[in-house]
Amino acid sequence: MVIRPSRRGAVATFATAALAAALAVSAPLSASAATDFDLDGTADAARNGAGADRADAVRASIVDGPAKNVILLIGDGMGDSEITAARNYLVGAGGSLPGIDALPLTGQYTTYSLYPEGNPNVGKVDAVPDSAATGTAWATGTKTYDNAVGVDIYGDREDNLIEIAKANGLRTGNVSTAEIQDATPAVQAAHVAQRACYGPDTDAQRAAAGQSAACGPDAKENGGAGSISEQLLDTRADVTFGGGREYFSQTANAGVYSGLTLEQQAADRGYQYVTTAAGLDGITEADQESPVLGLFAERNFATRFSPSVPVQGVATGTQPTIPAIRCTDNPAYGGDQPALAALTEKSIDLLDRPDGESGFFLQVEGASIDKQDHAADACGQIGETQDLDEAVQAALEFAEADGETLVIVTADHAHTSQIVDNVTPGLNTRLTTADGTSMLIAYGTAAAGGSQQHTGAQLRIAAYGPGAANVLGLTDQTDNFFTMANALELDRDLVAASTGATATADPTEVAPGGRVTITGSGFAGDVIVNATFDGEPLGQADVIDGVATFVVPVDADAGEGDYEVVLTGARTGVTATATFTVAVDADASSGDGTDDGAPAPGAGGGANGGTTPAGSIGGSPNAGGSLSFTGAEVAPFLALGGLLLAAGTALVVRARMRRARHA
Ligand SMILES: [Mg+2]
Ligand SMILES: [Zn+2]
Repeated sequence: MVIRPSRRGAVATFATAALAAALAVSAPLSASAATDFDLDGTADAARNGAGADRADAVRASIVDGPAKNVILLIGDGMGDSEITAARNYLVGAGGSLPGIDALPLTGQYTTYSLYPEGNPNVGKVDAVPDSAATGTAWATGTKTYDNAVGVDIYGDREDNLIEIAKANGLRTGNVSTAEIQDATPAVQAAHVAQRACYGPDTDAQRAAAGQSAACGPDAKENGGAGSISEQLLDTRADVTFGGGREYFSQTANAGVYSGLTLEQQAADRGYQYVTTAAGLDGITEADQESPVLGLFAERNFATRFSPSVPVQGVATGTQPTIPAIRCTDNPAYGGDQPALAALTEKSIDLLDRPDGESGFFLQVEGASIDKQDHAADACGQIGETQDLDEAVQAALEFAEADGETLVIVTADHAHTSQIVDNVTPGLNTRLTTADGTSMLIAYGTAAAGGSQQHTGAQLRIAAYGPGAANVLGLTDQTDNFFTMANALELDRDLVAASTGATATADPTEVAPGGRVTITGSGFAGDVIVNATFDGEPLGQADVIDGVATFVVPVDADAGEGDYEVVLTGARTGVTATATFTVAVDADASSGDGTDDGAPAPGAGGGANGGTTPAGSIGGSPNAGGSLSFTGAEVAPFLALGGLLLAAGTALVVRARMRRARHA
């Protein structure tokens, strides 16, 4: 095997011809590809040939961190069986998948989960995990229970890599072919006790179906942070691509966005929202002011191949004869729904910045390897593996040119499909491989029509680039969190990231009936900041590059004196206080209560750039200290979007008029 020498001193090198081959591949794999390998001679099948000593090549592929960027590619349910089946089918047993097989450094990791509090086995090992526990493991570094999204076995939230990367000034992306609420993308976006908490309507729908609540205390109306869809909007990755559009047509039923659909809420918070490949083509920038949310399917993406139909074997007696088939293209694939590789390329284009600027963390999931494995659909899972492989190729192509990017390719848990010699009592599919012989794939962990089960075997984890050596040997899935966080040199202390936050008022002196813009700066560890006046809520604002902005109307009958508005980071609890003075003779040219159209400082480029309206300060003798902030009153205002500065006239919020104690 030819080993390519190091291209640049400290920059990653390619230790395998497979990776070089990956980068040379221009045409996608053909479903009818056949290998022309001669495998029968001594050393013919040896992947490293007969004479190679790979020591130098391995040494050359070990590159110290840090990395500027990390791209994590996950094949959900992509165990060794699934990789082997796809390789055999697509390129032949002696071939190499040009993406997945190309990474030079490979280890294995354990994936088990733990039982949660409330279970008799609390804290003990659950040998077969689900995608929620496993995703939480690499997203937070913490083992947890099946079903848990971003919380530990006691239900406590654990910060995820996207949140941490953002706090460190990095750009972030989250891509999946599943519903974006599905566990793998959700672990980078939300913290809920049960993964099924998809949207604001979830519990009502479940109740109607006779099912127990999934959101429960996490629901907005119960004082929680909201469903996965709602929290995803809070988390505000620069780039979010997936399916699950259906849930964004649901309407928030509590909180400051109550009465708006989540699509409307996204627009109100400055998101660029696209639903088609053509729409995505029109997106040229994504940042914290204008993040992009692309939802290209109501639920999951269509698969690349049409489903294969397995044949039921018998427990005893003569097994059925199963003819070998080739998979067929799914006509529903493509069209308005971009391929995973295209989404990966687009994400990289949007997130990558020139040398000297901040890097990015990007997670990409090929979700339906798992879903089709559950369905005993051999063709489906193989096509999805091919899709992921092409996404890996895109990531490697960028990483090679960039030289500062760590690429990791792995899975979340192993799965059912097995490559077997003879028809089993389970479900069986025989495929003609790229070698021209047949391969029998069996599913035996559920009856026909049931959902085949995950399995508990360790998985391959492969890496390329600065820090890649940390995947070698046997690690645990939680190690992957530290591999990535350390490569990016992330400070994981979000409280520290917001400590020292400040708040200012502009103007500092305002006449009654005017407006004051309160700007909180340095809230990097938070995604939401809440404002209060005299202990009463004024509203919340999105943190955009560390800054949260509130426009606060001052009542026309507000008394003269000093006022304090306290800003509190929702995640960190860090507070900062802004002080301003209400004076009858204040300069009327600023904060005069008229709609002069001037955007609030720090507000973004969307409808209101993620700045939510603040309640008013002041009050009349009749206000009586009551706080009125209901969906009925807020919704019409929020729906106005860009008319933020009219807030004071439309919003019926009355905080008690009270002079600040330290007047
Ligand atoms: Mg998944
Ligand atoms: Zn699964």
